[in-house]
Amino acid sequence: MREKVDLKDLLLGELETILVSRGKEKYRAGQILTWMYQKGMIQFEEMTTLSLSLRRELKDIFTVSQLTPERVEESQDGTKKFLFPLLDGNLIETVLIPESGHQTICISTQVGCQLGCRFCLSGKNGLVRDLKVSEIVNQVCAVKKYAGREENLNLVLMGMGEPLANYDNTVKALKIILSPWGLHFSHRRLTLSTAGLVPEMERLGRELPVNLAVSLNASNDQTRSYLMPVNKKYPLNELLKACSRYPLPPRKRITFEYNLIRGINDSAEDAQKLIKLVKNIPCKVNLIPFNPHPGVSLERPDHETVLKFQEILHDHGISAMIRKSKGADIHAACGQLSYQKLKS
Ligand code: SF4
Repeated sequence: MREKVDLKDLLLGELETILVSRGKEKYRAGQILTWMYQKGMIQFEEMTTLSLSLRRELKDIFTVSQLTPERVEESQDGTKKFLFPLLDGNLIETVLIPESGHQTICISTQVGCQLGCRFCLSGKNGLVRDLKVSEIVNQVCAVKKYAGREENLNLVLMGMGEPLANYDNTVKALKIILSPWGLHFSHRRLTLSTAGLVPEMERLGRELPVNLAVSLNASNDQTRSYLMPVNKKYPLNELLKACSRYPLPPRKRITFEYNLIRGINDSAEDAQKLIKLVKNIPCKVNLIPFNPHPGVSLERPDHETVLKFQEILHDHGISAMIRKSKGADIHAACGQLSYQKLKS
C-alpha cells in the first residue's frame, strides 16, 4: 500500500500538482490548506466546503499530522516548555516565552545537534536526526493554541538544532509559516538563529530573507573555536563578511548573540575587540549571561561584569541588551533544551 502524504509537508503548489494530477480543481488546494492552518481542522470530515466524495478521496491519499505535548512545564516567570513526542519515539522541546507586549515561540529544527557548542546541552550527544517539515510547522500549530492572542506572536528558530544544517526542511517550513494560505506570520516577527554556517546564510539571504541572529560568543577565533567548533570551518572573518552581505528586511539589523561566560569571553578587552568586529555592521548585541547546567563546567559572570561589558559597547554606539534568561528554573533557557526524556 502507498504511504499517505502528510499535508503539513506540502507547499500550496505541491498540493495543487497532486490534486490536478488526480483530476481535481486546482483551487481546492487553497481551500484545504486554509481549513487546516487557519481553522485548525485536522479531520477531512470537518472540511465542509468540500464535497463528500472529495473528502473521502483525500482521506485515502493524505494524512494531517499534529503534535500533542507529553508534558507542559511552567516556569515562575510564565515561560512554558513543551515536550513533544515524535512518531519514532524521539522527543523535542518547544518554548513559549511571555514578554512585555508580545509572546515568543522558540522552535526546534533538529533532534540533537552536530555542532557541539560547548555551552549548549542540545548538542551534547550529537545529532539524532533532522526534523521533517511537518514536525517544524506542527510545533507552531500546537503552541500557538496556548498563546491566546495571535497578533503579537513572535517566532524564533533558536531551539534545539542548527536550522541551517537542516536547510531544505527549515526553509520549506518557514514558507508554510509565512504564507497567507499557511500560518501567515509576518517576516518581521520571525528570526532565524544560526551558529554561522556561511554558505547556507548566503543561500538563505537569496531565498527567504528573514531576520537573522548569529550566535557569536567570542571576539577572537581562538576563543570562538574553543566554544563553537564550527568556527574552525567558518572563522570570524568569513562569518562577519557574510553578515555584512546579508540582505536584511527593511529597517532591520542583525542580532549578535553573545553568551557571557566567566573568565572566557567576559573581559573589558573582549568587549573592545567585539566592537572592532561588529562596528561596521548594522547590528544589535544580545548579551546572555550564561545559564549553568549540569555536565557543563562553564560559569556565569557576576552582574557587575555583565554591566561593565554592556557599558563598553554602549559607549561605542553599539546597541546591547542584557537578555534575562527566561524559564531557567524549568531548563527552558538558551542552551538548556534537550531531547532526553526527563524522569517523571
Ligand atoms: S548552540 Fe545551537 S548550534 Fe550550537 S550545539 Fe546548541 S543547538 Fe547546536
